[in-house]
Order: sequence, then C-alpha cells, then structure tokens
Amino acid sequence: MEPWQKDYIRKKLRKHKLVFVDDKLTPETVSKVKNADAISVFIYSKVDRAVLDKLPKVRLVNTMSTGFDHIDIKACKARKITVTNVPAYGDITVAEHTFALILALTRRIVQAVETTRRGSFEFEGLMGTDLKGKTLGVVGTGKIGRNVAHIGSCGFGMKVLAYDLFPNPDLAKECGFTYVPFNRLLAESDVITFHVPLTKETTHMLNRRNLNKVKKGAVLINTSRGAVIETGAILEGVVKGVFSGVGLDVIEEEGVMKEELELLSSPSKEKKIDLKTLLEEHLLVEQPNVIITPHSAFYSKEALLRIVDTTIENIEAFFSNKQINVVKC
Ligand code: NAD
Repeated sequence: MEPWQKDYIRKKLRKHKLVFVDDKLTPETVSKVKNADAISVFIYSKVDRAVLDKLPKVRLVNTMSTGFDHIDIKACKARKITVTNVPAYGDITVAEHTFALILALTRRIVQAVETTRRGSFEFEGLMGTDLKGKTLGVVGTGKIGRNVAHIGSCGFGMKVLAYDLFPNPDLAKECGFTYVPFNRLLAESDVITFHVPLTKETTHMLNRRNLNKVKKGAVLINTSRGAVIETGAILEGVVKGVFSGVGLDVIEEEGVMKEELELLSSPSKEKKIDLKTLLEEHLLVEQPNVIITPHSAFYSKEALLRIVDTTIENIEAFFSNKQINVVKC
C-alpha cells in the first residue's frame, strides 16, 4: 500500500487502532496481526484455514479487490467471519486504458515519441488512422465493456458491434451498439477488444483455429485476462499481418514474466510453466506494432481512492452493525 493511502486511511479510521503490514499475509507473517478484530487484504494474501487458525479474534475479512478467490469463504462462514469486498472501482478506469492502447496504436504514439526523443521531427512512417466511422467489436458487455462501447460510440463516432453470452438489449440501445455472433464480430471489426472474465468457456476464445475469421488489418486489444486469447494466435496474427496492431494489458504468463529470475532458481515452479507461451510472449514484446502494459489498466489515482473509500465504508459499516458489500456464496 502506498504511503498516501496509509495516511488517508489513518485519518478516516482514526477511532480504530490500525496496524499496516507490508508483507503478504501467510501463516508465517500472520502473527503481526494476531489480535486483530478485522483484517483487510489484497489479492496476494491467501486467507485460508492455516491463516484463519492464527487469527482467533477476527470477525471481518475485507478484500481490497472485486475478486475474492484468495479467501476461503467456507472456512470464514464456519467461523462466523464476515467477508466483504469492493464490488466496483475501475470500470471507467479500465475502459479509458483500453482507449489509451487503441489510440497509441492507431496514432503510432509510441513510435512518434521515440522519434522526437531521438531529436527527429520527421513524421515519415507515423501516419495513423481515424477511429470515426470505423467498427469497434466489444467482446463482453459487462461493467467495463459497456463503458468501452459507450466511449467508442458516443465519444469517437464508431459503429459498435458486441458479443456477450447474456445480451442486454436495453443496454445496447442506451450505449448505441448491436449484438452480433462472435464470428461476425471478428469478421467486421476494425478494432476488437476483450472484456470477458476468464472461465473454461472464454479460455482461448480467440485462437489459431478462428484467427482466419478476423478482418485483415484489425487492431486487437486485451485488458481482460491473458488466457482469453491464445498467445500463439496473437503472434501468428502479427507475423501474417492479420493484426495491424496489438495492445495488451494482460498476457498468459504475466506472473512468470515478472519473476523470471525466481523461476530460474526454482525448478519446482518450472513444471507448471508453459515455456512455449513464454517464448511466444518474448517474441511478441519485440514486435514494433505490439504494445504491452504491465496489468496496470486499473491503476489510476481515482480507482485506488475508490478501493480505499469502499474499504473504509465496509469497515465502518461492519462495526456499526450495518454490513455492506458482504460476499455471499
Ligand atoms: P463483468 O462481470 O461486469 O462483465 C463480463 C461480461 O462478460 C458479462 O456481461 C458476461 O455476461 C460476459 N461473459 C461471460 N462469459 C462469457 C462468454 N463465455 N462469452 C461471452 N461473454 C461472456 O466484468 P468486468 O468488470 O467488465 O471485467 C471484465 C474483465 O476485465 C474481467 O476478466 C476482469 O478480470 C478484467 N479486469 C481487468 C483489469 C485490469 O487491470 N486489466 C481490471 C479489472 C478487471
């Protein structure tokens, strides 16, 4: 947690005794908060039975995230511990990052900046394309996808096509888009952007087999989860010119890319890692028309503030016997 967040929380929760721990919560580090009545964690802390066994007084576990798969909900329930989360904080934030990636590719921003940094003001090779009048394909019209569709339609004057397992006709009318089958979206979209959760069904939703359905020269964007798109298909699409540009905030082996040194010294991890995908990702990083951000789409000051504010509200509500944002299972 960043220092400004700690100061902000200290001010807002001054009636409570607070302990900030920078380490992840594990059976080894949990002793630092052993007398806590409530704990608030991020996704890297696994709140399982082993941790809960060492927190005899805890009555509230809050997670500063939407997802709660790092918390053993059943074990909490058995101990009568309430679990709360932050249901929404970054819908607009991720949608704006999606357009940052789209515009960076369509207006060749990265190459343009590199050119001027080299001291050159020539614009040869920097010609871009307008978004107005182009077709945007939005895969998944949930909280983030609907904002992307709205920005594309109202902000940029794009024709917006969408695909979702559960189409919402009222939303389509409100945000100005049309639901179409997935293959039609791939065939007609100039920009294709993914906003589905990672499930069995969405794993490798775009892959080497359906790559030939994609409109030649499309821009591909993924800010959802890396495994929604087969990495080999992205590389093949880039090499064969199916994609004119690719913008990714998530990649399949991003955890490993972050920790390669650790991987080299930890052979046990090696077994679980898909080395082919890892190699393909290294090749992708080097492509001039591919830009990758480090899963930072959610990372804006406002989104972080919304996380902290909701966390504070969850804690205040719990200790006033008015529970909010309770995770149910
Ligand atoms: P959401 O649950 O609000 O929306 C997901 C949409 O996908 C829903 O409309 C759902 O019906 C649809 N869907 C589910 N399975 C589908 C399938 N098989 N085929 C077609 N549509 C399907 O989720 P959201 O908040 O909009 O988030 C979307 C994704 O963005 C999630 O994967 C989330 O993890 C990711 N995300 C990334 C970041 C980041 O920093 N990059 C931040 C937040 C969320």
